[in-house]
Amino acid sequence: MNYLLKGGRIVDPSQHLDSCPMDILVENGRISRLEENIHKTITAGRRVKSGDFTLLDLKGRVITPGLVDMHTHLREPGFEYKETIRTGSEAALAGGFTSLACMPNTRPVNDNRAVTEFIKRKAVECGLVRVYPVAAATRGSEGGHLAEFGDLKDAGAVAFSDDGKPVMNAGIMRRVLEYAGSIGMTVISHCEDLNLSAGGMMNEGWAATRFGLSGIPGIAEDVMVVRDILLAEFCKMSVHIAHISTREAVAIVRDAKRRGIRVTAETAPHYFSLTDEFLEGFDTNGKVNPPLRTAEDVRAVKEGLRDGTIDVIASDHAPHGRTDKEVEFDYASFGISGLETSLALGLRLVEEGILTLPQLIEKMSFTPAMILQIPGGTLAVGKAADLTVIDTDKAWRVDPSAFRSLGKNTPFAGWELRGKAVLTMVDGAIKYREVVVES
Ligand SMILES: [Zn+2]
Repeated sequence: MNYLLKGGRIVDPSQHLDSCPMDILVENGRISRLEENIHKTITAGRRVKSGDFTLLDLKGRVITPGLVDMHTHLREPGFEYKETIRTGSEAALAGGFTSLACMPNTRPVNDNRAVTEFIKRKAVECGLVRVYPVAAATRGSEGGHLAEFGDLKDAGAVAFSDDGKPVMNAGIMRRVLEYAGSIGMTVISHCEDLNLSAGGMMNEGWAATRFGLSGIPGIAEDVMVVRDILLAEFCKMSVHIAHISTREAVAIVRDAKRRGIRVTAETAPHYFSLTDEFLEGFDTNGKVNPPLRTAEDVRAVKEGLRDGTIDVIASDHAPHGRTDKEVEFDYASFGISGLETSLALGLRLVEEGILTLPQLIEKMSFTPAMILQIPGGTLAVGKAADLTVIDTDKAWRVDPSAFRSLGKNTPFAGWELRGKAVLTMVDGAIKYREVVVES
């Protein structure tokens, strides 16, 4: 099937493009033309190469490169009651994502070729989004011995991380950075000093004291951000800091970038949308690691996004079953189901004037693709037609029971948001759509 997407506003940071109205012609799975008024030249008698096409009238809509989520937990294999590769992919499409990278903390852990190949095969069978496995940095993600990096790269892993936990041993982390860097692979670091976080439940501070919950201090994150940046500098390698959440960590990354150290950083929507005060009602849907921080941290994360210190917005989609969350706060699992709310929460930053729309799309598409060195993040002619159509005016209410994800664990239930993906195309095929006029 070929498509002519007519009259939308094209926002493609990879080509420094923000223009309206413009047309896109999708032929044989690829973007074959990107121009003004293609529909006129075609209706004037110049046929598209392969004949028939479907016309989609996208006046008033925004067309962007397909969104890329570099931090998702798909839970399969091992925790299929929380999420499967299929349900996670469906949630991604509804959220406007065409590609995602999935973290290795499955059961078994993705620290070997068999698991990486299983995930890739399963994703291809589903035929929904592009799934890129992130493999464990150490065997079993236990922090003791390096995983078989070469073998995992050959099998299709795109990065290494023990996400869910840190690599506590600095000597091991040094080897991870050196070995991964030497074969051109990205290392993603979950920055948490376990001796400082010490089994805490929420951000350490005034709110935790009032609620009587044990705290995870910001310094547990900050010292590891410093350590990994210094290690990256020492090894002359690069490092990507996952889910940055504190004011100090933002400042540390900003300073490191000024000094020319090769560090990139991501944050997740909950870190610029909520504070630790959310936990007043002990709603376990707000229990996440790193924890929701203070208003001051939220301000700093926004400033980091604005000035480019934070390169990427990732969902850190961490779906859980009811039995994981509907328990006492201390026993509840950490994590937020984020794929279906990330874009709309990101668009709030545009509304607040913190990011322009092209900057938001850059952080949710082009930059994560660049960091992971995967295809996507562009609408350039000749590339695969992975794209997202966004209705930036569409008002909607977050209803977890309507999530495609099996994880209904969201602290945003009932929020009135504006902006939604209304059509998601992967490889030139429409994989998700809400009402879009066809003619
Ligand atoms: Zn993590």
